[in-house]
Amino acid sequence: MAYPKLIVDYEILKNNVKTLVNLCNTKGIKVAGVTKVFCGNPQIAKAYVEGGVSFLADSRIENLQRLKDLDVPKIMLRLPMISEAEKIVEYADISLNSEIETIRALSEKALEKNLVHKVILMVDLGDLREGYYNDEDLFQAVEEVLELKGVKLVGLGTNLTCYGGVIPSIEHMDKLNRLKKEIEEKFNIELEILSGGNSSSLHLLSDHDLQGINNLRLGESLVLGTESAYGQQLAGTRSDAFKLQVQVIEVKEKPSVPTGEIGRDAFGKVPTFVDRGVRKRILCAIGKQDIDLDTLYPVDKGITILGASSDHLILDGSDSEIDYKVGDIVEFTMHYVCLLRAMTSEYIKKELI
Ligand SMILES: *Cc1c(COP(=O)(O)O)cnc(C)c1O
Repeated sequence: MAYPKLIVDYEILKNNVKTLVNLCNTKGIKVAGVTKVFCGNPQIAKAYVEGGVSFLADSRIENLQRLKDLDVPKIMLRLPMISEAEKIVEYADISLNSEIETIRALSEKALEKNLVHKVILMVDLGDLREGYYNDEDLFQAVEEVLELKGVKLVGLGTNLTCYGGVIPSIEHMDKLNRLKKEIEEKFNIELEILSGGNSSSLHLLSDHDLQGINNLRLGESLVLGTESAYGQQLAGTRSDAFKLQVQVIEVKEKPSVPTGEIGRDAFGKVPTFVDRGVRKRILCAIGKQDIDLDTLYPVDKGITILGASSDHLILDGSDSEIDYKVGDIVEFTMHYVCLLRAMTSEYIKKELI
């Protein structure tokens, strides 16, 4: 057995996906399953496809490339770099866009490959990450996109709760729908996709029909079962599809306050300590290079996390009913940031069960 290890429970994940795909489908919404939190791992993404997603979506083109053998349309989520335009048209069927220069580059590369690349224009409804902020700029972009032969405008999208923390409301969805209708009338076209955001839009589904929204791009909610506006666990989902196992490399009784003058720690901060007397300290072979301490949760509630350096995790095991020894395995669940980092770390073995 090799550690640290990240265990992925395929059935739990697939069940989360099925539950949320069903919820969305009853509201006329198709789900794009976002794979970036597990780096586009195709074995894991298969649970999305079997769970019924209509698209696979990722913010990195390397990940979409990894997913190329899974037979559902792919969406590139991050605005493409002009330098990757050729790869975008090759590995993504659709991309989210907000700059005409980039869309021109995509059109050119698509024409070279005899393809038509589909484009969704992003609208910034106030979260202040990507998208057209002024309606006039958006209409201008539509006009220019419609002239390009290598791309097809298929819809509008928005993204909220990513930078500004803005929580999606019915008014936001209304605005997006109004813009869509205005564009359809003004340019005499039909837009097939209206993409209303990410896992933070799910809370709107409980007591509303979402004004014309027919697509959501879901990552966190599929993987962890949480909607990201208020952090609630969604009915019928589980948060433990991904579990981290680490091995204990030292167990010793030590004081809770270091000895000597306190300077900076390994990350340049001056640490502070509370004197709780002599405690049972458990040292594990994993560190900040692989995990995020704020979103790491011991399964054994008797354990508290004291801290970590790059390669060491320090736990307090005094209150646990388990008498941990060197060589034992300690198990954790994770939230988004820790999971993202753990999946990205090549030092952590991934095991699909
Ligand atoms: C990451 C991302 C998503 C998925 O967000 P979750 O909160 O994980 O559901 C959706 N859309 C875009 C543009 C993204 O970058």
